[in-house]
Amino acid sequence: MNFKKNNKFIILLLILLMLILTSCGVVSNKKTATISRTEFLMDTVMTIRIYHKSDKKILDKAFDRLKEIEAKMSSTIETSEVSNINNNAGIKPVTVSPDTYFVIKEAKRFAELSLGAFDPTIGPLVDLWDIKAGERERDFIPSNREVENMKTLVNYKKLELLDNNQVFLKEKNMKLALGSIVKGYATDEVKKVLSESNANSAIIDLGGNVFAHGVKEDDMPWKIGIQNPFGLPGEYLGVIRVKDKSVVTSGDYERYFFFNGEKYNHIIDPSTGYPVNNEITGVSIITARSIDADALSTTLFVLGLDKGIELINSTDYANAIFITKAKEVYIGKELKDKFDLIKELISFIPKEY
Ligand code: AMP
Ligand code: MG
Repeated sequence: MNFKKNNKFIILLLILLMLILTSCGVVSNKKTATISRTEFLMDTVMTIRIYHKSDKKILDKAFDRLKEIEAKMSSTIETSEVSNINNNAGIKPVTVSPDTYFVIKEAKRFAELSLGAFDPTIGPLVDLWDIKAGERERDFIPSNREVENMKTLVNYKKLELLDNNQVFLKEKNMKLALGSIVKGYATDEVKKVLSESNANSAIIDLGGNVFAHGVKEDDMPWKIGIQNPFGLPGEYLGVIRVKDKSVVTSGDYERYFFFNGEKYNHIIDPSTGYPVNNEITGVSIITARSIDADALSTTLFVLGLDKGIELINSTDYANAIFITKAKEVYIGKELKDKFDLIKELISFIPKEY
């Protein structure tokens, strides 16, 4: 064998060795590694998927933070800080952690902004209607009197935020329910945990409360599917392209039941005490902070199309996509070149606002 031939032979051998090692998984390409985990928390399925990282401890930290937030802010966990506030309604203020205080303060801010369409003291009505996932038919609804009675307990103006992280519900039997905002806050907190661990490319999906963290690769935006309210879970109506943004949807197809042929969903209009029944079937909000998107999606669902558009246009930090029961899709001007309807869905009518 001459020198040239020998060299060729060695190179071939090296390539062969690399192929074997790669296929055995010995040579791991750290840059393209993906780690993900799914758990059931806060009454929903939560998935965190991190790209270009392989250290599973980042996932441990993120889920530990989620469990901590649930333990503090769930109104169904008897030992939570929120339960402590509820148990002391009309009795005395309760000191909570800065975490819980912050979320309640934000919730009260959205209640004020929407003049009570969004109301974190909705607890008595949530309990009365008790609308669960997976329920489809019911042969009873609460009486008018029960609804009226519970409605008198819902009033964000009687939710006091005092100094030193103290919170007070001024009337007995008032009750906080933060289900419309906690997942948004939790999403922001997971994003913080990931950034601290230098994980800068991830999809955080806390039961449809999505955050597209950083970019996937090559500075390309993420594509986030918007649920088709008339389709099966996971069937998209359109796709939105975003970088470092949260996309949160509230819809009447998430939790609902039918009674006498009428649909009753899990979002309640505090002004009537009844589940919302307006022209909207779903509304998606796009913001930089997930807590804003979560609170606003619930708020706009209650407000309806006209007042919803008015409110979203009065902010400089949020965009919205409204889907009506008549299959119109209202897309904000700023989203025009970022959102595409699925072509095959020809019965939907795109509209700009
Ligand atoms: P979301 O899915 O984020 O729109 O939140 C819906 C949840 O928020 C419901 O399951 C209730 O616990 C609670 N909720 C219902 N109606 C309201 C309302 N008008 N304001 C604030 N929270 C509400
Ligand atoms: Mg919400």
